[in-house]
Amino acid sequence: MVHPHTELRFVNPHIGWGVFATRAIPKGTIVWALDALDQQFAPEQVASLPPYAQRQLQIYSYVDGRGRHVLCWDHGRFFNHSCNANCLSVGYDFELAIRDIAEGEELTDDYGTLNPGEPFPCGCAAPACRGHVLPDDMLRLGNGWDAAARDAFFLVPTVPQPLWEIVRDRAEIESALAEPERLRPIHHHYRGAALTPSRTAGMTAEVTVSLL
Ligand SMILES: [Zn+2]
Repeated sequence: MVHPHTELRFVNPHIGWGVFATRAIPKGTIVWALDALDQQFAPEQVASLPPYAQRQLQIYSYVDGRGRHVLCWDHGRFFNHSCNANCLSVGYDFELAIRDIAEGEELTDDYGTLNPGEPFPCGCAAPACRGHVLPDDMLRLGNGWDAAARDAFFLVPTVPQPLWEIVRDRAEIESALAEPERLRPIHHHYRGAALTPSRTAGMTAEVTVSLL
């Protein structure tokens, strides 16, 4: 479910629709959280879908750490990519505002955190645009994303959180707020990480344990 102070707006014919703030949203706000109405498709379910449905999933879903396609039921599926995203995830099923977001500003995410199945070119116009988003961006860039999201995570208890009641793993999150070394890294979401621990080579021992 997307934060209530957002709405869908048309960006342009090339990009299509996007998610915009209807009020200022402070850094540390949970702007999206996985909820009971979001649909999750295991790989074998995706394979059994007709081609048109598979194409829609490729456009509108993301892939979680167990390799499942997740299709948001609301305008959460219209978050656009930016290489300088103002929203990122840590290792839980929510997205955080990692900067203060102004009223009228578009909320963006980094699709590199969402396990894209194929590389795709990026023309997001951010000064640090990477030019391409790659399936293994999470392994190469995850530490930087963790650093960018960490400050925002520890602001979670200090700003209004209208989505808190639907956030999963709240006890674990509260534990990480009290003991920062428990904070789950973004690698927790890497495609198939929970199923293929050998792909965690290069991560820290602590991260590998959490993925097992
Ligand atoms: Zn870009």
